[in-house]
Amino acid sequence: MIGNVLVGVRAPLWAILCAVLCSGLFAGGVAQPASAADCPGHPGALGTSRTLVVDPREHPRIGTMQYPETLPLEDHEVVLTFDDGPLPRYSNQILEILASQCVKATFFTIGRMAQASPEGVRKLREAGHSIGTHSQDHPLGMKRMSIERARQEIDDGIASVTAALGEGAPAPFFRIPGLSRADGVEDYLASLGIQIWSADFLADDWRHVSSSRVYDLAIKRLEDHGKGILLLHDIQPRTVAALPRILNELKARGYRIVHVVPATPEQPATPTEPQQWQLHPPSETVAISHWPKIPNFVFADASMLPAPALSDLDWHDGRSMTLAEPFDRVKRLVRGVPLPREAPWPRQLTLPQEDAAITLPVPAESIFEIREGLRAAMQAAPPSRHAEQPVPSRHQTASAEAGSRRTLRGRPHLGRARQHAVSHLAGGGSRQVVRARKGTLKHLVQVKKRSV
Ligand SMILES: [Zn+2]
Repeated sequence: MIGNVLVGVRAPLWAILCAVLCSGLFAGGVAQPASAADCPGHPGALGTSRTLVVDPREHPRIGTMQYPETLPLEDHEVVLTFDDGPLPRYSNQILEILASQCVKATFFTIGRMAQASPEGVRKLREAGHSIGTHSQDHPLGMKRMSIERARQEIDDGIASVTAALGEGAPAPFFRIPGLSRADGVEDYLASLGIQIWSADFLADDWRHVSSSRVYDLAIKRLEDHGKGILLLHDIQPRTVAALPRILNELKARGYRIVHVVPATPEQPATPTEPQQWQLHPPSETVAISHWPKIPNFVFADASMLPAPALSDLDWHDGRSMTLAEPFDRVKRLVRGVPLPREAPWPRQLTLPQEDAAITLPVPAESIFEIREGLRAAMQAAPPSRHAEQPVPSRHQTASAEAGSRRTLRGRPHLGRARQHAVSHLAGGGSRQVVRARKGTLKHLVQVKKRSV
Protein backbone atom coordinates (compact mmCIF):
# COMPACT_ATOMS: atom_id res chain seq x y z
CA MET A 1 0.00 0.00 0.00
CA ILE A 2 1.00 3.60 -0.23
CA GLY A 3 2.35 3.68 3.28
CA ASN A 4 4.66 0.77 2.58
CA VAL A 5 5.80 2.34 -0.62
CA LEU A 6 6.65 5.45 1.32
CA VAL A 7 8.72 3.46 3.77
CA GLY A 8 10.75 1.92 1.02
CA VAL A 9 11.32 5.02 -1.06
CA ARG A 10 11.77 7.30 1.95
CA ALA A 11 11.55 10.58 0.07
CA PRO A 12 9.09 10.43 -2.74
CA LEU A 13 7.19 13.39 -4.03
CA TRP A 14 3.70 12.87 -2.88
CA ALA A 15 2.17 14.40 -5.92
CA ILE A 16 4.12 12.11 -8.23
CA LEU A 17 3.06 9.07 -6.26
CA CYS A 18 -0.46 10.25 -6.38
CA ALA A 19 -0.32 10.67 -10.10
CA VAL A 20 0.75 7.06 -10.40
CA LEU A 21 -1.24 5.41 -7.67
CA CYS A 22 -4.06 7.58 -6.53
CA SER A 23 -5.69 8.41 -9.82
CA GLY A 24 -7.23 11.47 -8.31
CA LEU A 25 -8.76 9.48 -5.50
CA PHE A 26 -7.38 11.50 -2.65
CA ALA A 27 -9.92 11.53 0.06
CA GLY A 28 -11.61 14.83 -0.44
CA GLY A 29 -9.27 15.56 -3.30
CA VAL A 30 -11.91 16.73 -5.73
CA ALA A 31 -12.40 20.41 -5.18
CA GLN A 32 -16.12 20.86 -5.37
CA PRO A 33 -17.09 23.53 -2.89
CA ALA A 34 -20.58 23.15 -1.55
CA SER A 35 -22.07 26.50 -0.92
CA ALA A 36 -25.12 26.99 1.23
CA ALA A 37 -27.14 27.39 -1.94
CA ASP A 38 -25.99 23.92 -2.98
CA CYS A 39 -27.16 22.23 0.18
CA PRO A 40 -30.37 20.46 -0.75
CA GLY A 41 -32.90 20.36 2.01
CA HIS A 42 -30.98 22.81 4.13
CA PRO A 43 -31.59 26.28 2.76
CA GLY A 44 -30.08 27.98 5.79
CA ALA A 45 -26.99 25.85 5.84
CA LEU A 46 -23.58 27.26 6.61
CA GLY A 47 -22.08 25.56 3.58
CA THR A 48 -18.47 25.42 2.43
CA SER A 49 -17.43 28.71 0.88
CA ARG A 50 -14.36 27.53 -1.03
CA THR A 51 -11.79 24.82 -1.45
CA LEU A 52 -8.18 25.66 -0.75
CA VAL A 53 -5.60 23.52 -2.55
CA VAL A 54 -2.23 23.40 -0.77
CA ASP A 55 1.17 22.00 -1.68
CA PRO A 56 2.68 20.35 1.41
CA ARG A 57 6.18 20.71 0.01
CA GLU A 58 5.89 24.48 -0.11
CA HIS A 59 4.45 24.79 3.37
CA PRO A 60 5.41 21.67 5.34
CA ARG A 61 4.28 22.89 8.79
CA ILE A 62 1.19 24.94 9.58
CA GLY A 63 -0.71 26.02 12.66
CA THR A 64 0.34 29.03 14.73
CA MET A 65 0.06 27.19 17.99
CA GLN A 66 3.47 25.81 17.09
CA TYR A 67 4.67 27.16 13.77
CA PRO A 68 5.13 30.54 12.13
CA GLU A 69 2.81 29.66 9.26
CA THR A 70 -0.79 28.68 9.02
CA LEU A 71 -3.26 28.23 6.21
CA PRO A 72 -3.72 31.27 3.94
CA LEU A 73 -7.19 32.13 5.13
CA GLU A 74 -9.06 35.35 4.75
CA ASP A 75 -10.65 37.07 7.68
CA HIS A 76 -13.60 35.09 9.05
CA GLU A 77 -12.55 31.91 7.28
CA VAL A 78 -12.41 28.73 9.34
CA VAL A 79 -11.03 25.26 8.73
CA LEU A 80 -12.56 22.52 10.84
CA THR A 81 -10.45 19.50 11.81
CA PHE A 82 -11.44 16.39 13.73
CA ASP A 83 -8.94 14.02 15.35
CA ASP A 84 -8.72 10.47 16.64
CA GLY A 85 -11.50 8.70 14.78
CA PRO A 86 -13.18 7.02 13.29
CA LEU A 87 -15.32 5.87 16.17
CA PRO A 88 -18.69 5.06 14.61
CA ARG A 89 -20.76 5.90 17.65
CA TYR A 90 -19.71 9.54 17.52
CA SER A 91 -17.99 9.95 14.16
CA ASN A 92 -21.21 9.07 12.33
CA GLN A 93 -23.07 11.77 14.23
CA ILE A 94 -20.37 14.27 13.40
CA LEU A 95 -20.74 13.33 9.75
CA GLU A 96 -24.49 13.83 9.88
CA ILE A 97 -24.13 17.24 11.50
CA LEU A 98 -21.58 18.36 8.92
CA ALA A 99 -23.74 17.01 6.12
CA SER A 100 -26.75 18.93 7.42
CA GLN A 101 -24.72 22.12 7.01
CA CYS A 102 -22.90 21.00 3.84
CA VAL A 103 -19.62 21.63 5.62
CA LYS A 104 -16.40 19.90 4.57
CA ALA A 105 -13.68 19.24 7.12
CA THR A 106 -10.35 17.46 7.54
CA PHE A 107 -10.18 14.31 9.65
CA PHE A 108 -6.94 13.07 11.20
CA THR A 109 -7.53 9.37 11.64
CA ILE A 110 -5.65 6.91 13.82
CA GLY A 111 -4.37 3.71 12.24
CA ARG A 112 -5.78 1.45 14.93
CA MET A 113 -9.15 3.12 14.67
CA ALA A 114 -9.11 2.67 10.91
CA GLN A 115 -8.32 -1.02 11.37
CA ALA A 116 -11.22 -1.37 13.78
CA SER A 117 -13.62 0.59 11.62
CA PRO A 118 -12.51 0.68 7.98
CA GLU A 119 -16.05 1.50 6.89
CA GLY A 120 -15.80 4.61 9.05
CA VAL A 121 -12.83 5.79 7.00
CA ARG A 122 -14.67 5.12 3.76
CA LYS A 123 -17.65 7.13 5.02
CA LEU A 124 -15.38 10.10 5.46
CA ARG A 125 -14.27 9.82 1.87
CA GLU A 126 -17.77 9.28 0.56
CA ALA A 127 -18.86 12.43 2.35
CA GLY A 128 -16.12 14.36 0.56
CA HIS A 129 -13.98 15.22 3.57
CA SER A 130 -10.19 15.30 3.56
CA ILE A 131 -8.55 12.43 5.40
CA GLY A 132 -5.17 12.92 7.02
CA THR A 133 -3.45 10.57 9.44
CA HIS A 134 -2.60 10.79 13.11
CA SER A 135 -0.13 7.88 13.70
CA GLN A 136 -0.90 4.24 14.23
CA ASP A 137 -1.36 4.09 18.01
CA HIS A 138 -1.57 7.75 19.02
CA PRO A 139 1.52 7.60 21.24
CA LEU A 140 1.93 10.35 23.73
CA GLY A 141 5.28 12.04 23.72
CA MET A 142 6.36 11.28 20.18
CA LYS A 143 9.10 13.81 20.78
CA ARG A 144 10.67 11.48 23.32
CA MET A 145 10.63 8.27 21.32
CA SER A 146 13.36 7.09 18.98
CA ILE A 147 13.08 8.36 15.44
CA GLU A 148 12.86 4.77 14.25
CA ARG A 149 9.79 4.15 16.34
CA ALA A 150 8.30 7.49 15.40
CA ARG A 151 8.76 6.66 11.73
CA GLN A 152 7.08 3.33 12.29
CA GLU A 153 4.13 5.04 13.93
CA ILE A 154 3.78 7.39 10.99
CA ASP A 155 4.22 4.71 8.34
CA ASP A 156 1.90 2.21 10.01
CA GLY A 157 -0.79 4.84 10.47
CA ILE A 158 -0.68 5.72 6.79
CA ALA A 159 -0.70 2.05 5.81
CA SER A 160 -3.69 1.28 8.03
CA VAL A 161 -5.77 4.17 6.73
CA THR A 162 -4.78 3.34 3.17
CA ALA A 163 -5.88 -0.26 3.70
CA ALA A 164 -9.18 0.93 5.14
CA LEU A 165 -9.82 3.10 2.10
CA GLY A 166 -9.31 0.16 -0.19
CA GLU A 167 -8.28 2.36 -3.09
CA GLY A 168 -6.60 5.70 -3.17
CA ALA A 169 -4.68 7.08 -0.26
CA PRO A 170 -5.10 9.51 2.59
CA ALA A 171 -4.13 13.10 2.01
CA PRO A 172 -0.50 13.94 2.83
CA PHE A 173 -1.63 15.69 5.99
CA PHE A 174 -0.41 14.58 9.40
CA ARG A 175 -1.16 15.79 12.90
CA ILE A 176 1.32 14.75 15.57
CA PRO A 177 -0.47 13.15 18.54
CA GLY A 178 -0.65 15.60 21.38
CA LEU A 179 1.10 18.12 19.11
CA SER A 180 4.25 16.60 20.52
CA ARG A 181 6.51 17.93 17.83
CA ALA A 182 10.16 16.94 17.37
CA ASP A 183 12.79 17.86 14.82
CA GLY A 184 13.29 14.28 13.67
CA VAL A 185 9.57 13.73 13.20
CA GLU A 186 9.18 16.96 11.28
CA ASP A 187 12.17 16.21 9.07
CA TYR A 188 10.89 12.74 8.31
CA LEU A 189 7.41 13.95 7.38
CA ALA A 190 8.90 16.69 5.23
CA SER A 191 10.99 14.07 3.43
CA LEU A 192 7.76 12.25 2.63
CA GLY A 193 6.15 15.40 1.32
CA ILE A 194 3.61 15.31 4.12
CA GLN A 195 2.30 18.48 5.68
CA ILE A 196 2.19 18.72 9.48
CA TRP A 197 -0.94 20.31 10.80
CA SER A 198 -0.82 21.89 14.19
CA ALA A 199 -3.76 24.20 14.91
CA ASP A 200 -4.55 27.84 15.52
CA PHE A 201 -6.88 27.24 18.45
CA LEU A 202 -8.59 24.53 20.45
CA ALA A 203 -11.91 24.03 22.15
CA ASP A 204 -10.65 21.69 24.88
CA ASP A 205 -13.16 19.04 23.87
CA TRP A 206 -10.89 16.22 25.02
CA ARG A 207 -11.09 17.50 28.56
CA HIS A 208 -13.83 16.75 31.03
CA VAL A 209 -15.83 19.86 30.32
CA SER A 210 -19.43 20.38 29.27
CA SER A 211 -20.52 20.72 25.67
CA SER A 212 -21.49 24.30 26.47
CA ARG A 213 -17.94 24.91 27.49
CA VAL A 214 -16.68 23.46 24.22
CA TYR A 215 -19.02 25.75 22.35
CA ASP A 216 -17.98 28.80 24.36
CA LEU A 217 -14.29 28.12 23.86
CA ALA A 218 -14.60 27.46 20.16
CA ILE A 219 -16.46 30.70 19.53
CA LYS A 220 -14.40 32.83 21.89
CA ARG A 221 -11.08 31.68 20.53
CA LEU A 222 -12.22 32.01 16.98
CA GLU A 223 -13.35 35.53 17.71
CA ASP A 224 -9.96 36.25 19.26
CA HIS A 225 -8.15 35.03 16.15
CA GLY A 226 -10.64 36.13 13.53
CA LYS A 227 -9.88 33.07 11.44
CA GLY A 228 -7.90 29.85 11.57
CA ILE A 229 -7.74 26.11 12.07
CA LEU A 230 -9.97 24.75 14.83
CA LEU A 231 -8.97 21.43 16.37
CA LEU A 232 -11.85 19.22 17.51
CA HIS A 233 -12.35 15.48 18.06
CA ASP A 234 -14.91 13.24 16.44
CA ILE A 235 -14.75 10.67 19.24
CA GLN A 236 -16.14 12.86 22.00
CA PRO A 237 -19.84 13.07 22.88
CA ARG A 238 -19.41 16.66 24.06
CA THR A 239 -18.16 17.57 20.61
CA VAL A 240 -21.20 15.94 19.03
CA ALA A 241 -23.39 17.96 21.36
CA ALA A 242 -21.55 21.23 20.78
CA LEU A 243 -21.05 21.08 17.01
CA PRO A 244 -24.58 22.08 15.87
CA ARG A 245 -24.45 25.21 18.02
CA ILE A 246 -20.94 26.00 16.84
CA LEU A 247 -21.93 25.77 13.18
CA ASN A 248 -25.07 27.81 13.69
CA GLU A 249 -23.12 30.49 15.49
CA LEU A 250 -20.48 30.57 12.79
CA LYS A 251 -23.22 31.19 10.28
CA ALA A 252 -24.79 33.89 12.45
CA ARG A 253 -21.47 35.69 12.89
CA GLY A 254 -20.59 35.62 9.24
CA TYR A 255 -17.84 33.01 9.30
CA ARG A 256 -17.13 30.90 6.25
CA ILE A 257 -15.92 27.33 6.07
CA VAL A 258 -12.92 26.49 3.92
CA HIS A 259 -12.19 22.95 2.77
CA VAL A 260 -8.50 22.10 2.34
CA VAL A 261 -7.22 19.50 -0.11
CA PRO A 262 -3.71 18.58 -1.26
CA ALA A 263 -2.37 19.64 -4.61
CA THR A 264 -2.03 17.05 -7.34
CA PRO A 265 -0.70 17.24 -10.88
CA GLU A 266 -4.28 17.63 -12.01
CA GLN A 267 -5.18 20.14 -9.33
CA PRO A 268 -2.40 22.65 -8.65
CA ALA A 269 -2.14 24.62 -5.46
CA THR A 270 -4.23 27.71 -5.00
CA PRO A 271 -2.02 30.71 -5.83
CA THR A 272 -1.02 32.54 -2.66
CA GLU A 273 1.51 35.07 -1.43
CA PRO A 274 3.96 34.14 1.35
CA GLN A 275 2.51 36.66 3.79
CA GLN A 276 -0.90 35.04 3.47
CA TRP A 277 0.50 32.05 5.36
CA GLN A 278 1.01 34.16 8.42
CA LEU A 279 -1.91 34.46 10.79
CA HIS A 280 -1.57 38.21 11.08
CA PRO A 281 0.72 39.46 8.32
CA PRO A 282 1.97 43.03 8.67
CA SER A 283 -0.34 45.45 6.96
CA GLU A 284 1.05 47.60 4.18
CA THR A 285 -1.15 50.41 5.38
CA VAL A 286 0.50 50.52 8.79
CA ALA A 287 3.34 53.02 9.14
CA ILE A 288 5.59 50.56 10.90
CA SER A 289 5.71 48.43 7.79
CA HIS A 290 7.89 51.09 6.20
CA TRP A 291 10.64 50.74 8.76
CA PRO A 292 13.64 48.62 7.75
CA LYS A 293 12.84 44.96 7.73
CA ILE A 294 13.82 42.88 10.72
CA PRO A 295 16.72 40.58 9.81
CA ASN A 296 15.77 37.02 9.11
CA PHE A 297 17.83 35.65 11.97
CA VAL A 298 15.22 36.92 14.35
CA PHE A 299 12.91 34.26 13.04
CA ALA A 300 15.55 31.59 12.51
CA ASP A 301 14.39 29.55 15.45
CA ALA A 302 10.72 30.25 15.12
CA SER A 303 10.08 26.72 13.98
CA MET A 304 11.68 25.50 17.16
CA LEU A 305 9.06 27.01 19.36
CA PRO A 306 7.95 24.45 21.90
CA ALA A 307 4.34 23.59 22.18
CA PRO A 308 2.73 25.98 24.59
CA ALA A 309 1.77 24.38 27.72
CA LEU A 310 0.80 22.15 25.03
CA SER A 311 4.39 21.47 24.88
CA ASP A 312 4.27 20.04 28.24
CA LEU A 313 0.82 18.88 28.16
CA ASP A 314 1.15 15.63 26.31
CA TRP A 315 -2.55 15.59 26.38
CA HIS A 316 -4.42 12.62 25.22
CA ASP A 317 -7.81 13.01 23.85
CA GLY A 318 -10.27 11.64 26.27
CA ARG A 319 -8.02 12.20 29.23
CA SER A 320 -8.03 15.24 31.36
CA MET A 321 -5.12 17.55 31.71
CA THR A 322 -4.59 18.99 35.14
CA LEU A 323 -3.62 22.60 35.21
CA ALA A 324 -3.85 25.13 37.95
CA GLU A 325 -5.15 27.58 35.37
CA PRO A 326 -7.48 26.64 32.54
CA PHE A 327 -6.33 27.36 29.04
CA ASP A 328 -9.12 29.73 28.35
CA ARG A 329 -8.06 32.14 31.03
CA VAL A 330 -5.30 33.54 28.93
CA LYS A 331 -3.87 36.92 29.51
CA ARG A 332 -1.69 37.39 26.47
CA LEU A 333 -0.43 35.80 23.32
CA VAL A 334 3.13 35.11 22.32
CA ARG A 335 3.38 34.65 18.56
CA GLY A 336 -0.18 33.53 18.60
CA VAL A 337 0.42 31.07 21.42
CA PRO A 338 -1.87 31.51 24.41
CA LEU A 339 -0.12 31.43 27.72
CA PRO A 340 -1.81 30.55 30.97
CA ARG A 341 -2.50 33.55 33.13
CA GLU A 342 -0.33 32.06 35.81
CA ALA A 343 2.17 29.27 35.93
CA PRO A 344 0.38 25.94 36.28
CA TRP A 345 2.72 24.60 38.89
CA PRO A 346 2.01 24.96 42.60
CA ARG A 347 3.13 28.08 44.32
CA GLN A 348 5.92 27.81 46.82
CA LEU A 349 4.91 28.02 50.43
CA THR A 350 6.50 30.70 52.59
CA LEU A 351 7.20 29.62 56.13
CA PRO A 352 7.27 32.32 58.82
CA GLN A 353 10.79 32.49 60.12
CA GLU A 354 9.82 33.58 63.59
CA ASP A 355 7.91 30.38 64.13
CA ALA A 356 10.87 28.35 63.00
CA ALA A 357 13.07 30.16 65.47
CA ILE A 358 10.71 29.43 68.31
CA THR A 359 10.52 25.76 67.57
CA LEU A 360 14.24 25.18 67.25
CA PRO A 361 15.27 22.61 69.86
CA VAL A 362 17.51 23.71 72.70
CA PRO A 363 20.75 21.72 72.72
CA ALA A 364 20.80 19.21 75.52
CA GLU A 365 23.48 19.52 78.14
CA SER A 366 24.59 16.02 77.38
CA ILE A 367 25.93 17.26 74.07
CA PHE A 368 28.74 18.94 75.94
CA GLU A 369 29.51 15.97 78.08
CA ILE A 370 32.64 13.94 77.43
CA ARG A 371 32.49 10.40 78.67
CA GLU A 372 35.12 9.27 81.08
CA GLY A 373 36.55 6.72 78.65
CA LEU A 374 36.88 9.27 75.90
CA ARG A 375 38.44 11.81 78.20
CA ALA A 376 41.04 9.30 79.27
CA ALA A 377 41.78 8.51 75.63
CA MET A 378 42.17 12.19 74.86
CA GLN A 379 44.65 12.59 77.63
CA ALA A 380 46.62 9.54 76.50
CA ALA A 381 46.57 10.29 72.79
CA PRO A 382 49.33 12.33 71.11
CA PRO A 383 48.46 15.93 70.42
CA SER A 384 46.20 16.37 67.43
CA ARG A 385 46.88 18.69 64.57
CA HIS A 386 43.43 20.06 65.06
CA ALA A 387 42.95 22.32 67.94
CA GLU A 388 40.17 21.38 70.27
CA GLN A 389 38.12 24.40 71.00
CA PRO A 390 37.13 25.68 74.35
CA VAL A 391 33.57 24.59 75.07
CA PRO A 392 31.83 26.79 77.56
CA SER A 393 29.39 25.36 80.03
CA ARG A 394 25.99 26.87 80.18
CA HIS A 395 26.83 28.40 83.52
CA GLN A 396 29.85 30.26 82.25
CA THR A 397 28.72 31.12 78.80
CA ALA A 398 28.37 34.80 79.49
CA SER A 399 31.84 35.23 80.94
CA ALA A 400 33.72 32.95 78.57
CA GLU A 401 31.89 33.75 75.39
CA ALA A 402 34.13 36.56 74.27
CA GLY A 403 37.30 34.51 74.54
CA SER A 404 35.97 31.25 73.19
CA ARG A 405 34.19 32.88 70.26
CA ARG A 406 37.43 34.28 68.98
CA THR A 407 39.02 30.89 69.49
CA LEU A 408 36.37 29.16 67.45
CA ARG A 409 37.22 31.46 64.62
CA GLY A 410 40.70 29.99 64.55
CA ARG A 411 42.33 32.94 66.29
CA PRO A 412 43.05 31.60 69.76
CA HIS A 413 43.42 34.06 72.57
CA LEU A 414 44.81 31.53 74.92
CA GLY A 415 45.77 34.04 77.48
CA ARG A 416 42.26 35.05 78.39
CA ALA A 417 40.81 31.59 77.97
CA ARG A 418 43.48 29.98 80.10
CA GLN A 419 43.16 32.66 82.72
CA HIS A 420 39.45 32.09 82.83
CA ALA A 421 39.82 28.32 83.17
CA VAL A 422 42.45 28.59 85.86
CA SER A 423 40.20 30.86 87.83
CA HIS A 424 37.62 28.08 87.84
CA LEU A 425 40.20 25.53 88.88
CA ALA A 426 41.39 27.72 91.69
CA GLY A 427 37.88 28.21 92.86
CA GLY A 428 37.34 24.45 93.33
CA GLY A 429 33.88 23.15 92.46
CA SER A 430 33.23 20.38 90.00
CA ARG A 431 35.07 21.74 86.97
CA GLN A 432 38.15 20.29 85.42
CA VAL A 433 40.50 21.69 82.85
CA VAL A 434 42.06 19.46 80.27
CA ARG A 435 44.99 20.83 78.45
CA ALA A 436 46.46 19.63 75.21
CA ARG A 437 49.72 20.76 73.77
CA LYS A 438 51.02 20.85 70.26
CA GLY A 439 54.37 22.40 69.79
CA THR A 440 54.11 25.89 71.06
CA LEU A 441 50.37 26.03 70.52
CA LYS A 442 48.37 25.29 73.62
CA HIS A 443 44.78 24.31 73.55
CA LEU A 444 42.29 24.29 76.20
CA VAL A 445 39.26 22.13 76.63
CA GLN A 446 36.96 22.83 79.45
CA VAL A 447 34.76 20.09 80.56
CA LYS A 448 31.94 20.12 82.94
CA LYS A 449 32.01 17.00 84.92
CA ARG A 450 28.55 16.11 85.78
CA SER A 451 27.38 14.07 88.69
CA VAL A 452 24.54 11.78 87.80
ZN1 LIG B 1 -5.20 12.96 18.90
